[in-house]
Amino acid sequence: MTRINKPAHAAQHNFPTVNGCLQIGGMPLTRLAQRVGMTPFYAYDRALLTARVAQLRAALPREISLHYSVKANPMPALVQWMAGLVDGFDVASGGELATVLDTTMPPAAISFAGPGKSLAELRRAVAAGVVIHAESEREINTLADLGQTLGLKPKVSLRINPDFELKSSGMKMGGGAKPFGVDAELAPALLARLATLDVEFHGLQIFSGSQSLDAQAVMDAQSSAFALAFRLAQHAPSPLRSLNIGGGFGIPYFPGDQHLDLAPIGEHLQQWMPRVQAALPDVEVVLELGRYLVGEAGLYVTRVVDRKESRGQVFLVVDGGLHHHLAASGNFGQVIRKNYPVAPALSTGAADEVRETVSVVGPLCTPLDVLAAQMELPRAEAGDLIVVFQSGAYGLSASPTAFLGHPAPAEVLV
Ligand SMILES: *Cc1c(COP(=O)(O)O)cnc(C)c1O
Repeated sequence: MTRINKPAHAAQHNFPTVNGCLQIGGMPLTRLAQRVGMTPFYAYDRALLTARVAQLRAALPREISLHYSVKANPMPALVQWMAGLVDGFDVASGGELATVLDTTMPPAAISFAGPGKSLAELRRAVAAGVVIHAESEREINTLADLGQTLGLKPKVSLRINPDFELKSSGMKMGGGAKPFGVDAELAPALLARLATLDVEFHGLQIFSGSQSLDAQAVMDAQSSAFALAFRLAQHAPSPLRSLNIGGGFGIPYFPGDQHLDLAPIGEHLQQWMPRVQAALPDVEVVLELGRYLVGEAGLYVTRVVDRKESRGQVFLVVDGGLHHHLAASGNFGQVIRKNYPVAPALSTGAADEVRETVSVVGPLCTPLDVLAAQMELPRAEAGDLIVVFQSGAYGLSASPTAFLGHPAPAEVLV
């Protein structure tokens, strides 16, 4: 009989086990739980954020600027930490704008994208002096009017809905009919319109997708973005100062997912740089990354409240669930539910450790509240900590905390 190996989660090295306990920020997780004083909580590791940015800088051409896309994790302390690491922030709401303006990041290194920006948001952004990624003709006209009213010259880039898309395992946000940006084929006319208005033209944003683990797909999208930018630059009212080529770097969440291979992406960008500098002298090329910067630096930590058996299956009922971590429950854009990496904080790792197949479920009275379905884990009891890895992005802020009225989790940076 041939045995089919089930795909496994990618090995995680970010949170080592010392004396049988998972460590974060050089501290046993059990001790951090005492420090926080409650479960559930999210914990993000500063040193891992720093290391990830350093790893990117080492792999990418030095001319490339790195922006952090704040929607991945808008926790103010984390955003402040990121301010010292990256070259700029990308925000997508007035709320995120307020968060980043409280940091040390200069306004000119902040860009504001997103469809349907309100008049109030646009006014605040112009007054703040951040770069606005205009997503429609209405926004361009509104920005020009606001500039007149406020006596300021709005900094404007044009967000393009490209005529290609990033092949990825996540959501597609470019190519075809989309609410994001202006269609590439309509961009020349809007660039001509910008030339007639009293605004400061900055450049282009070409975002083609998210969560790709396929280096070749990322490289293809980047090549397409450069080619599109070269074409559109001929219609621009002034030379491009900034070219945001999107991001889309993914992280491994599910069994069988592999880490994205940065080395070929770095080499490929390096090969493009001379052509970019020749076609667009003095342009700043920006990569905007969300989950790739923060996703692997975070844990969601819960405690087992009850251990139950039902018709031969074991359920660990924990004090956190989909109301705090929608993505891990499989309800944030996944088509087929798959398990995030989940494990107890305490595990000897020894070959003779008792393991069992369990489902980890939350306290919500709905069958959707599942953090791990039928996973083989070291045996855990009521009172033990269970963690969800890969939880630094699209965790708390992407979850319906009001659903069922349970308390909100804590959030700490260590
Ligand atoms: C959401 C978003 C990002 C971040 O995506 P990640 O997958 O977290 O890297 C970047 N840019 C834009 C325009 C986005 O909408």
